Amino acid sequence: MATETWRRPTKRRVRAIRDRLRELYGRPTQVPHGRPVEELVRTILSQNTNDTNRDVAFDRLRERFPTWREVRDAPLDELEDAIRPGGLAPQKAPRIQAALQDIADRAAPGSEAEDAARIDSLDLDWLRDAPRDEAMDFLTSLPGVGRKTAACVLIFSFGRPEIPVDTHVYRVGGRLGLFPPDASFERAHDEMRAITDPDDAYELHINLIAHGRRVCRPRPRCGECALRRMCPAYQKGEVTPVGSKLASPRHS
Ligand code: SF4
Repeated sequence: MATETWRRPTKRRVRAIRDRLRELYGRPTQVPHGRPVEELVRTILSQNTNDTNRDVAFDRLRERFPTWREVRDAPLDELEDAIRPGGLAPQKAPRIQAALQDIADRAAPGSEAEDAARIDSLDLDWLRDAPRDEAMDFLTSLPGVGRKTAACVLIFSFGRPEIPVDTHVYRVGGRLGLFPPDASFERAHDEMRAITDPDDAYELHINLIAHGRRVCRPRPRCGECALRRMCPAYQKGEVTPVGSKLASPRHS
């Protein structure tokens, strides 16, 4: 499906996809945890790795450096060592420190003791009620923080309606025609937000990931996919399903 033939799906169609995914994977319960700095660091650690390795890296980080100030001020080699199980430690360690430093720098200046207290608590709670664009602009202006990381902070910390576009959401959403198949991640993010009811954002995010992990993999299992009839990529033979050497048939 080329971009020029792509049409933004109606909300009705998006709801139909939501409902089919809900039949498959249920309706996840959202419980915002209220810890935006933790989410920010955890998401930086998740870049180019899986959830298990990310969690090991995060736990080691918190064990070695219990406060955010200690993380910020840690010798780089020690920080890299702590997060090594998450991969790309030489890139992620300075990225984490730069983001923490930037957050502290933008708080009101104070004494050294106040600075220490501020970096230990790193209050980002104002993002809970800030205008959406202001919150997004702030987060994406932090070093190493892109749209996906910012969206993760807002939805998982505060339950704000964002759909982080990771590789699964990007692959499945593109095949289902939710955004143009060759869209940038930024465009995909904007389109997902435009077509999704705020109340469905979390559910759609979680269930698209589930579908991407179980069925709509890089080599998709279209033969067992309950979304075949509503999938333009399958209907147009634009994917090569498991078990097929040729492009998929044009009709299910
Ligand atoms: Fe993915 Fe195939 Fe299902 Fe379409 S039919 S959503 S390409 S698994």
